[in-house]
Amino acid sequence: MAEPALGNPQNTIEVLKKYNFTFQKKYGQNFLIDTHVLNKIIRAAKIHKDDFVLEIGPGIGTMTQYLAQSARQVAAVEIDRALIPILEDTLSEFRNVRIINEDVLKLDLRKLAEEANGGKPIKVVANLPYYITTPIIMGLFEKHVPIESITVMVQKEVADRMQAVPGTKDYGALSLAVQFYAKPYIAAFVPPNCFMPRPKVGSAVICLSCYEKPPVRVKDENLLFKIIRASFNQRRKTLANGLSNASDLSVPKEIIIEGIEKIGKGAGVRGETLTLEEFARLSNYIYDQQ
Ligand code: SAM
Repeated sequence: MAEPALGNPQNTIEVLKKYNFTFQKKYGQNFLIDTHVLNKIIRAAKIHKDDFVLEIGPGIGTMTQYLAQSARQVAAVEIDRALIPILEDTLSEFRNVRIINEDVLKLDLRKLAEEANGGKPIKVVANLPYYITTPIIMGLFEKHVPIESITVMVQKEVADRMQAVPGTKDYGALSLAVQFYAKPYIAAFVPPNCFMPRPKVGSAVICLSCYEKPPVRVKDENLLFKIIRASFNQRRKTLANGLSNASDLSVPKEIIIEGIEKIGKGAGVRGETLTLEEFARLSNYIYDQQ
């Protein structure tokens, strides 16, 4: 089996020079150049020899080499056409990698996962392009791609928001959406000097272990998420006012107040103090009144 040859600044510079590659800011290209971080990601993702791994944005194939060494099969989806000949070169000795030149947001990942892994849940590992972190992760969840875990490098603030608990400043719609589908855990903080070029923000590796079934019982997921979004859209307002002013919810204020009382909260409660379980009960109550 081939060994990873990338992962340090010299080799990355050599590859970039050989192909005269210019970084595309619009694609969020910050390539990893630190072997310790790469090994940490692979350990955090708990890759086994029988795993199918989807990598989003392989860049020049640095992490792909590490993944290919640990997994059975890797599919690497890269939008930038200029990187494809580079990937074909850096991954030529790894027989278990499929390079897909596509926009990950447009690809039918559910079909890809089902075909490639016989419907068994896959693992997703990536150093994500930060400009589309939320659409990528929410897309994986909402399109019901069969996934066991997602281990990704994201902007530090986004990782903090994903694992935030009620009543904290980082707690919001993203925390609840992620925690509805998975259990988050931050595995490492990564400084800008581990990337080329250096990003302006700090980064973190977050592991999301996906639930087979959501941890709360919800009658209408769509309604739950509408309520969650409306609660955090108007953070300064009470939950009752926030929900009754929301444009995409047409629920009478009396019902909202009754629902808030049913979950044991007072009229002046704010959305940011509610747990996922309380949001689920509130949404089930509202659902039953419609
Ligand atoms: N994995 C590489 C590494 O760690 O060195 C590169 C990570 S870089 C932060 C993000 C990668 O995602 C870039 O290669 C970029 O071209 C790619 N990318 C950006 N938008 C994408 C999209 N919509 N679909 C697929 N890949 C995308």
